[in-house]
This record gives sequence, C-alpha cells and structure tokens, in this order.
Amino acid sequence: MDNTDVRSWDNTHFVHPWEGMSALGQNERTFVETARGIHIFNGNGDRLIDGPGGMWCTQIGYGREEMAEAMAEQARQLAYFSPFSNTNSIAARFARELARRSPGDLNHVFFTTGGSTAVDSALRFVQFRNNLLGRPEKKIVITRQKAYHGSTYLAAGVSGKERDRLWLDKADQFAHFLPDVNPLYRGEGQSIEEFLEEKIVDLENAILTLGADRVAAFIAEPILASGGVIVPPKGYHRRCLEVCRRHDVLYISDEVVTAFGRLGHWFASEDVFGIRPDIITCAKGLTSGYAPMGATLISDRLIADVAGRDATFSNGYTYSGHPVCAAAGLTSMEIIEREGILEHVRTVAPVFQERLHDLSRIGIVTDTRGMGLMGCVQCSLDGDKHSALKADYDIGARIDAECQKRGLLVRPIVNMCVMSPPLIITEDQVHQMFDILEEGIRAAE
Ligand code: PLP
Repeated sequence: MDNTDVRSWDNTHFVHPWEGMSALGQNERTFVETARGIHIFNGNGDRLIDGPGGMWCTQIGYGREEMAEAMAEQARQLAYFSPFSNTNSIAARFARELARRSPGDLNHVFFTTGGSTAVDSALRFVQFRNNLLGRPEKKIVITRQKAYHGSTYLAAGVSGKERDRLWLDKADQFAHFLPDVNPLYRGEGQSIEEFLEEKIVDLENAILTLGADRVAAFIAEPILASGGVIVPPKGYHRRCLEVCRRHDVLYISDEVVTAFGRLGHWFASEDVFGIRPDIITCAKGLTSGYAPMGATLISDRLIADVAGRDATFSNGYTYSGHPVCAAAGLTSMEIIEREGILEHVRTVAPVFQERLHDLSRIGIVTDTRGMGLMGCVQCSLDGDKHSALKADYDIGARIDAECQKRGLLVRPIVNMCVMSPPLIITEDQVHQMFDILEEGIRAAE
C-alpha cells in the first residue's frame, strides 16, 4: 500500500502521545491498519506478532467478530445517552459484573474514559471523602519513583518517571515520592529481605515525617509497568497495606495494567499479592482495547463514609458508563470466561518467564524481569546494570527495528524492551516470539 499521503497527513496534523519535538513532522511510524489474533499487519502487509499487546491491553486478541457484533448491536440500540441523571442497563450490568469479580468489598464502580481518568477520579474521591469527614488537611498522596499513573494533571502529578517530568508543570503539591523499589538496585551486599525491610521503613517514615493527619493515600501499581516491569520484593504490597492500615492511610492499587488476566486473574491485588485495597483503578484490558474505558472501584467502607451527606461528588465524564464501551467490556469478560483465558495465562506464563530469563545469556542484557505475561529485558552496551550510557538510549528502538524485520513488534523504552502480548498467545507462539527477540537483541548488540 502506498502510504505517502497518509504519512504526510500524520506528520502534519496528528500530534501523538509523547511526541518527540526533535523529529516533529519527520516521523517514520509503523502504520497498523489490520490485526487478527495476536498479529498486526504493518503498512507493507507484513505480519508481526504484537509483543506489547497494543499497550498492555489487547487481552482477547484482535478481530473478534463477536466483539464487533456486540458493539454494533449496542450502537444500533443505544449508542449514547447522558449518564448524569439517567442510566442504561448495559453499564449497570457491567458494574455488577466488575463488582462480583473484584476483591473484598469493592462494590462501587465509577466508570471513566481510561486509566488516567480512573486514577484522577480515585484521587478526587479521596480528597472528597476527607473534606466531608472534616479533615481537609489530609491530602498528601505517597507514590513512588518510576511509577506511571497517567497523563491528566493530577495523575501525572503522582507519576514518577523522571524523563516524563522534565518539561511539563506538575500538580505535585500533594505528591510525596518514595525511592525506587527495583531489587536490581539494592545496595551492595544487601539481601532481598533487607531491601524489602528498607522499603517498608521508607513508607512508614514518610507517613510519620509528613504526619499521618496529612497523608491521605498510598498509590501503587502491583508491578510498575511503564517504569520497566518492576516487580517489588515478595510481601511488599501486604506489608505496605499493614503500614497504611496502622496510620489510617488509604491504599489505592493501580491495576490499569495488571487486571483482566495479565497475571492470570481478574485482579492481581488479592489473588496474586494477597491484599484487599481500598480502591482499585483499572482500564486497558477492561475492554481488551476494543473501546476506551476505565473504572475506579471503591469499597463499601469508603462509600459508607460519604453516603447520605448533603454533598455532591462533582466529578464525571460525558462518557462515563458509555453503552458501547460497556458492551465491549461485558463481551470481552464473557470471552475471557468462556475460553478459560485466565487459566490459559497461568499455564503459558511459566514458559514465557523461562524464555524471558533465558535471554540473560546475551552479553548486553543486564536484567530480565517479569511476572505472568509481563516481561522486560534491560540492556546496556557495557553490560553494567547501573549504567544508562547515552549510547544505550536507543538500544530498545534498535532491538525493535531488528525484531520488526523478523516478524515481531516490541515496545522499546529507552534501554529496555517491554513485552505483554495478547493473553491468547499459545506456547508455540511464545517460543516464536522469544526466538525472534533473541535474534533481534543479538543483531542490535
Ligand atoms: N495507570 C497505569 C499503571 C498505566 O500503565 C497507565 C497507562 O499506561 C495509566 C494509568 C493511564 O492509562 P490511560 O493511558 O488509559 O489514561
């Protein structure tokens, strides 16, 4: 296909997320027009395995007729109506199904337009509740370096990826950042147990120093996703929750990436990490990427604190509970259940993780880490895990280019490649994917 015109329209008119200004108007982005199962087709008609799963979101894979039908049928019946003073039955059903699958008493679902707005709504709800409880000074949100919670002003304010914070103003007057929880960077001779202890002390000290009466919440991704698939030490989340409970600090689990099967369960908080948070934020796999939607799940306990008061939670979106998005979400959920996709992930993930860790044999690979169907390969040209040389900055992009030539798309993040394929990937396809990734890394060495 000749893409000359569309490439020019793309470069002239389409401002992309995280648009780099140095190459503005001269980008050579891959065009993706068609996709089926775990494969995408680029502008040249080449078939590539979708290593990143879109953006961690295409759980059930591409091109599902049943999804297209459900969404089309809903659009025919009711494409949209205002959620402010009206409702629709498909969104109500979807809310009930989410509540049924969520941990503990997270029975209240606030629908949003994506992950950033789910986090934004969670933070605004926390402020709202504290204001109503007569403690307006309890506002600080403890978060972590390398966290990514979204791109609205408030969600970006609690996000801790340094490069993202360089050029934009931040609403971080409420944010307090804890140091990196990546065990790779623990001190010389420090055991994992000692590192874990240090991280728990970091959290508790922060609360004590700032004052528990000023700290409203702790927000954490179960696994820091865009920060480079950082898996905190075992027991970390449970211990953090205990600290939060001791000081009346709410625990917000940002499951925008980890929910809906990425770790083999509907939600990872309880089933994988053994915690029942006060709030869960989710999006992405919520609709398998077929429609933009997010959700903030709030506990009975928190809702009971605000219910019956003479106040309005003045937060919401034209498209909260959008019927077509809800149809996509419900149908995706039905497919995950009917096809046993959660069980499938639990079966295939050990193979994925074994092949991932096997890449550490390659000279420039300085770390491999992951869980479920999430993985990261970190590289450095001098083989030093601590260095991110200027020359290392484009290793991820070079590996991606080499892999694309061989039939695999990966997600490069500076000196890392992140993998999170559609959850329907078979064991054979996992092998194909890692065979190509290995070749791509060696070619980029
Ligand atoms: N939270 C986490 C953990 C994410 O990874 C992301 C996006 O990658 C977001 C929030 C923001 O979601 P969205 O891009 O749908 O607004």
